[in-house]
Amino acid sequence: MPLTPMKQILDEARKKGYGVGAYNVNNMEQIQAIMAAAQKTQSPVIIQASRGALKYSNFTYLKHLMIAAAEENPTIPLSMHLDHGNSLDTVKKSIALGFTSVMIDGSLKEDGKTASDYAYNVAVTRSVVEYAHGYGVTVEGEIGTLGGIEDGVGSGSIHITDPKEAKKFVDDTGLDALAIAIGTSHGAYKFKGAVNLALDVLKEVRALIDIPLVLHGASSVPKELIDAVNKYGGKMPGATGVPMSSLKEAIKLGVSKINVDTDGRLAVTAAIRKVFAESPEKFDPRDYLGPARDTLTELIAKKMEDFGTAGHASDYKPTTLEEAKRFYK
Ligand SMILES: [Zn+2]
Repeated sequence: MPLTPMKQILDEARKKGYGVGAYNVNNMEQIQAIMAAAQKTQSPVIIQASRGALKYSNFTYLKHLMIAAAEENPTIPLSMHLDHGNSLDTVKKSIALGFTSVMIDGSLKEDGKTASDYAYNVAVTRSVVEYAHGYGVTVEGEIGTLGGIEDGVGSGSIHITDPKEAKKFVDDTGLDALAIAIGTSHGAYKFKGAVNLALDVLKEVRALIDIPLVLHGASSVPKELIDAVNKYGGKMPGATGVPMSSLKEAIKLGVSKINVDTDGRLAVTAAIRKVFAESPEKFDPRDYLGPARDTLTELIAKKMEDFGTAGHASDYKPTTLEEAKRFYK
């Protein structure tokens, strides 16, 4: 089965009121874990790669891994998404690789660090929408700024989305999905004190606009994973994330795509540290990458249940980029 445009996966999720996780990958074991979880729970799924991941995997390797994922799992709707694209150039390269969805993050300038202004965001997003829709590829944009920095992306400071500006942004750009900033942030240290999400802003945005909404920086940073990392020699004091209860609330209020990167990193690290600590004689990479893959599978399968994605893999027949192309025309 060819890869599915993300728009369909999110539109279907919105129709039925569940969330779809978008899980970040860099290597084979991560992709296998995500697909095993999707298979186990019968969930549609979004796999995403950042610019850093594309560079790390030398582009072509990742392309063939995702083709393998689609080939091995013909009954699972699967979309391959570029996370935090920073320019039309990056987007063109990703579409040439076969991505069926791209994010253009015009909330930041091309360096991925400096906050931009509204006019810049509209101009770069609009140019990506025009290009990507010509290929049937879905476009996600962002308005407002997320906190935290991950993979070199982020300005570090939070700027909560203005609902009226969000509405204007959707009208001005014609994009398919919108990432909003309501207090989540990238990385493993999201909150200094109490968890504080601007769910009222989410409600206002949802009332004004009619496309799927996206939550970035939505890892839960589960205590048991942090404890495992620390128990086996890691050092991550005070790491915190967004509790699943808040994410469930956000899904109920209209979020359709939930980005998860940090939790996957934690699962892999915890599992590998455990093997190293308990079996220092082991030196075959399969002896620790295997358990890492199993731990990640378990983590993601649980998220698919919690987000409500489980059981929806065969609800609809996945469309192709060709069909999406005709739709945009
Ligand atoms: Zn992000």
